[in-house]
Amino acid sequence: MPGPEPGTVWIEEWDGRLHAMFQCYFWSGNTGNRAKRANAMLRRVKQGTWVCRWCGDELPDYLRVDAQSCSEGCRKRAARERRERRAARS
Ligand SMILES: [Zn+2]
Repeated sequence: MPGPEPGTVWIEEWDGRLHAMFQCYFWSGNTGNRAKRANAMLRRVKQGTWVCRWCGDELPDYLRVDAQSCSEGCRKRAARERRERRAARS
């Protein structure tokens, strides 16, 4: 599934606090989804789950808010490890 356009939402830190930022499209006024996405991302950053489950790096901000891995490579390595663990159990 393709992710949203890069750079439409991002996290910024100032005054020691994290803020979810999103690019507004003034001509459409349709910021509802972006605001929701930015807030969902911010929640994950605060929970410390906005990281790649394989390499532990912070996820890039252009990924879907439910992303688990920073890249296709990490996603595949994580999936392979899960498969091997399952095979080892049986
Ligand atoms: Zn990774």
